[in-house]
Parts: sequence; structure tokens; C-alpha cells
Amino acid sequence: MRVVMKFGGTSVGDVDAIRKVVAIIKESHEQGNEVAVVVSAMTKVTDQIIAEAERIVTCTDRKVLDTFMSDLRTRHITTLEAVAPDYVEEVTEHIDIRLERLKNILVAVHNLRELTPRSRDYIISFGEKLSAPIVSAALRQIGIPSFQISGCDAGILTDGVHGNATALHESYARIAERIGSRLANEIPVIQGFAGCSKEGAVTTLGRSGSDYSGAIIGAGVDADEIIIWTDVDGVMTTDPRMISEARVIDSISFIEMMEMSYFGAKVIHSRALIPAMEKDIPVYVRNTFNASHPGTLVSRETHTDERIVKAVSLIKNSCLVSVSGFTTGRPGVAGEIFTALAEAGVNVMLISQGSSELNISMIITEDQMAQAEQALAAITERGLVKKYSFTTNVQVVSVVGAGMRGTPGTIARIFRSLGEKHINVLMLSQGSSELNISFVVNEEDGIKAVRAIHEEYHLDKESE
Ligand code: ADP
Ligand code: ASP
Ligand code: MG
Repeated sequence: MRVVMKFGGTSVGDVDAIRKVVAIIKESHEQGNEVAVVVSAMTKVTDQIIAEAERIVTCTDRKVLDTFMSDLRTRHITTLEAVAPDYVEEVTEHIDIRLERLKNILVAVHNLRELTPRSRDYIISFGEKLSAPIVSAALRQIGIPSFQISGCDAGILTDGVHGNATALHESYARIAERIGSRLANEIPVIQGFAGCSKEGAVTTLGRSGSDYSGAIIGAGVDADEIIIWTDVDGVMTTDPRMISEARVIDSISFIEMMEMSYFGAKVIHSRALIPAMEKDIPVYVRNTFNASHPGTLVSRETHTDERIVKAVSLIKNSCLVSVSGFTTGRPGVAGEIFTALAEAGVNVMLISQGSSELNISMIITEDQMAQAEQALAAITERGLVKKYSFTTNVQVVSVVGAGMRGTPGTIARIFRSLGEKHINVLMLSQGSSELNISFVVNEEDGIKAVRAIHEEYHLDKESE
């Protein structure tokens, strides 16, 4: 069998974790599987690199950079020494070359006082450039032939959209040739999170994008299965950090899972399932720290058990945008609004439109408010709409389940359970697939609303 395993940041976050990772890979290898591995950066490393890149644009204190670089080096080298003592010299040399490159580009950013999307992408891809050689060396340490390689060299070719790139279909044949052909003899450890544009520029796949890398590689090598190894037992009924009663879901369809991750279930990157879906490869989500648990199977099948609702998720830091006073009798105003927002790079997560077409409410993330404001100001100036407003401190609750399709009364039941808890709904939207109902509440009600629905549908229990 051919298996692609992706290990997240916590799974490669320290010595103990990497030992677990290596044991998991070894077991699969010994069962006779061909294995390709994709890794994230060590926990928090990408965040730290981003923070340093943003700091150094304006800051003059070079000492901070030196401390940052030496902390980064220490963390990686001490981990390497513990997991691959026989390869310390060779791998340290690689790591030092990469750290030198990272430092040079950070200094350049500082000197130019400019962090462009292109340089930012190049910089933030370094976390994975540092973790992959360590994991690969740890495999060699226990006698498993392995090499490490960048997403770009592995064949991931992207559309060149910095910060949120999409893999082109051409990637698959390249991956088959560069990675698939070597799987019989060695285990590649591929740096997740990034690929290259046709011009050869490093492009990242969006935050948490290593899941997407895993699925792209899986599709490229025609894997029999893709396993996303993480720090929870599988996909759960809601984020267990938010609601401790959350339970593991045994199986879920690609579509349901995509809805869940789009609406905040961080356990899988929202676009990660697309390549797996295209090639119909089952995806398992499993726990590196509890490897005996079977985890969750994500596949094409819609498992219509008796459950109506399968999961609830929450998006924090959202902003409700209301646009009203459309020019009457002029068709296409809504289209112009969305075009203007899209051109400004604003991602509209939810839309609700009054039937009169005289107003529209939308949800965007708080960090895109400034761009949205600019776009809407231009639309207002052109006289297409009269006014717009932003309501911050709101959250989006999303209820997912294929069983909702054709079950009358679901919205009424959801609203009743919210009403009983005195939770006010600011906006409501139902996807046409009927797999998803999303609504917007004030920040202080977000977790309360998730809990209310979790309880209403008995998601903490084996059956409803
Ligand atoms: P990794 O570093 O392995 O990619 P992430 O932190 O990106 O891990 O994703 C795993 C985390 O996703 C879990 O620790 C959990 O807190 C969070 N999470 C959010 N929603 C869910 C959900 N519905 N099921 C499981 N985990 C979830
Ligand atoms: N290291 C990247 C991030 O933190 C990608 C990933 O971990 O999936 O966003
Ligand atoms: Mg993740």
C-alpha cells in the first residue's frame, strides 16, 4: 500500500514527539507500505518567524535579530542531537546554511524597510526547511533510508498567489516522477506549507497549509490513503479546547469536512481535501500521541447515520458588514460590491441578502476590515449604495451534518435551543447544499451557542 503521512507542528514539536513520529513511520514501513512523509514546522516556529519578519521592517535593533536566530538554531540543533546523534554534523551544516539564508533575507527586509508578499512567503517557508532535515535524519538513525526535499523540488507547482497559493494540476505528474518513483527504496520527508510558482518563486499555501501539501503529494503519488497525524484523536464534534465533552467522529464525508474546516475547524486546512477528493483517496485524521486510536475516516461516502447534526464550529474575530440603500432599479449592484471586495482581496465568508435587494449583510474576518472599508467607500462614492457599517466582536457558529438535508424543522430546533439560552442571532445563512447552517452572534455568546447546539443534538453521546 502507498501511504502519505502528514505530521503537524506539535507532532514534530520536540524530541519526544519526533520519536513518536519515527515509530509510526517505522511501523508502516515494516508492514511493507511505501511511505511518503510531509512535515510542518516545529510548533510555533512559523508564528515566530512571521513576528520577526514584521518586527524587523521598522525596527532598528539588530540585537533582537541575533537573539531570534540563535534561539531558533538552539531549538533545532538540540532536537537534532537527541533524535539523530549520528547525523549531527551533516545536518547541522544544512541547517546552518538555511539559517544563514533566512538571516540574510531578514536583514535585506530591514534595509529595504519593505516586506513584500513574495519575500514574506520565502521567509515564512523556513520553518519547514528546518524541521524536515531533522525528521529525515531521525529515520536514518534507526536504519530507514530517507531523504528530505522541499515542496517545490517535490513537484508542487502553484498559481503563484502569495500567501494563499493553489496547486496546479501539472503538479501531480511532476510529483509522481520526482517522489513516486523513489518510494520503493526510500522515505522522502517533504517540507510542507510551500510550493513554487512557474517563475520559481516560493509560494505558501495559506496558514496550516501543510495539510494541503500532504493531500497534494497524496494525489501526486496516487496514494491509497493519506493520514493527517495531529494532536487530537480525530475530527471531533467541536473543538475540544472549547468544549471538553467533544467526541471523535468515526467517519465523515469530504463535503461535510470541508464545510467544517471552512467554518473554523482548524484540524484540517479548508482546501486540503480537494486533491484527495479529486483522486478519491481516503483521508484519516489520527493522533500522533495516541497512535492506537483509529481516528476519523474522511471519504466520499456520506454516512447517513441517524444523526441530523454532526459537528459545530466557531470562527472568532469576525466582522459583520451591512451595506444598504442600493440604487433602486439598477441591476447588478450586489455583483459590483462583491467584485470590489474581491479585487481588494477581501474574503466574504457568509452572505445574507434582503429579498428587496436593498441591503446585504456579509461576514468577513476582522483583519480585512480596512481593505473592505476602502472598497465600500469607493462604491458609495459612485452612488451605488447609500451607506455601510461594520459590527465588530461577532463570531460565526456553523452547524454541519448531511442529515440536515431534507429534515424539516432543523432551523427551528437550532433557534429554540439558542432562545432558551437567551442568545440573540444577528444573521443567518444556510448553504444551498443544506449541509450547513451558519449564524452570527455577539462575541460573548459564541461558545455558549456552540455548547447549546452540542447539547441539543447530544453530540457528546454515541447516538442522539
Ligand atoms: P497540527 O499542528 O497537527 O496541524 P492544528 O493545531 O492545526 O494541528 O489542528 C489540531 C487542533 O485543531 C486541535 O488541537 C484542536 O484544538 C483543533 N480543532 C478545532 N476544531 C476541531 C475539531 N472539530 N476536531 C478536532 N480538532 C479541532
Ligand atoms: N507551518 C505552517 C503554519 O504554521 C504550515 C502548517 O503548519 O501547516 O501555518
Ligand atoms: Mg494544522
